[in-house]
Amino acid sequence: MSDSTDFTRSGVSRFPDRDLGVQRFRCEVGVPLAEQKHLGHNRWHPDIPPLIEVGLGDELILESGGYDDYQLRDVDDDQDIHTFDLTRTHPLTGPVKVDGVKAGDLLVVDILDVQPLSGVGYSNILPGMGGPLASSFPDGYKTVWDLHGLFATSRQIPGVEIPAISHPGIIGVAPSHDLLRTWNEREDPFIADGLAAPRADARDTAVLRDLEGDEWARVAETAARTIPPRENGGNMDIKNLSRGSRVYFPVFVDGALFSSGDFHFAEGDGEITWNAIEMDGVGWYRFGVIKDGMARYGVRTPMFRPSPVDPQFGTRYLSFTGLSAGGKEQRYLDTTMAVTQVVEQAIEYLGKFGYSPEQAYTIISVAPCEMHVGGVVDIPNAAVVLKIPLDIFDQDILPQPK
Ligand code: ZN
Repeated sequence: MSDSTDFTRSGVSRFPDRDLGVQRFRCEVGVPLAEQKHLGHNRWHPDIPPLIEVGLGDELILESGGYDDYQLRDVDDDQDIHTFDLTRTHPLTGPVKVDGVKAGDLLVVDILDVQPLSGVGYSNILPGMGGPLASSFPDGYKTVWDLHGLFATSRQIPGVEIPAISHPGIIGVAPSHDLLRTWNEREDPFIADGLAAPRADARDTAVLRDLEGDEWARVAETAARTIPPRENGGNMDIKNLSRGSRVYFPVFVDGALFSSGDFHFAEGDGEITWNAIEMDGVGWYRFGVIKDGMARYGVRTPMFRPSPVDPQFGTRYLSFTGLSAGGKEQRYLDTTMAVTQVVEQAIEYLGKFGYSPEQAYTIISVAPCEMHVGGVVDIPNAAVVLKIPLDIFDQDILPQPK
């Protein structure tokens, strides 16, 4: 193709091989990572070969498929959530080797922008997934979102419009061999009890960029799953780690080996169903360093400065409260029980305004709801606060005098 017929690259950018002057790695929409594996990986391991080397101050645009690796379809039929292969999560783009960054430094990543790629988002209650309320929703529930610029709407949940607070659900750096060994040792007992995602049993679907044969098998053997957040960041699923944030990652290997994916259009604190508005997406990043930052500042897990740009609701919230006690049940300062209680309370309340339990549970998981720990000191009860923004609804959900 000549430059003059390649309209995506001529006249749009001053740089023939770039967008916005920034190098961009494109994800082919609808194509599983295993069929475009040069782009990235779906496990953590220090020996995955880098996608690219960049310098300090450089910017990159990295596209990724959604967490589902294009298993979900924009149809009302929900067969796809029942045949979902969890071992294909999460397709990540990278790793990016940052020259001038050494183990012990802090890698500084500016999240300059996050945008949708295909414009279709999904929120699922996957049968068996989702932490404290999973057993209440054994049948699952599928929601498809249309992403229109700053807002998302869904045919499955009418009367709700969700503003974007877009972020990479997964953003992180590679572990060292030592750290990876520690992860595996401490998680193996949980895997054995079915309380963490399997590693060896999920080996076949490991994508490790261009590794093949014996090298692939060696790395796949010990590579960590991407489900939990860990010291390297990873699946942090933090709603406010959004476009405009600056993240400080502890660095465990020279070059840091940065990767991202699992883009979310929006999410509520806690991501209680285990799904945000999940999307394939585009992340635009800039890289920097703080030399010897891990020791100088005592950093063991990522820190971040939140974005100056956020959906603004002011006081337009309704806050619910939950305790580590309810009815005849009493637990000691148990914040997980308090979270369960507050979410169940909010689901019941939203039911009075026409939302099914599945719809309400999904709204709480994907809208920019805030969840705070009220207290963990007033023995024996922990208290949690869940704030739901009023203005996402097309009806007034405040209590009214009769
Ligand atoms: Zn996600």
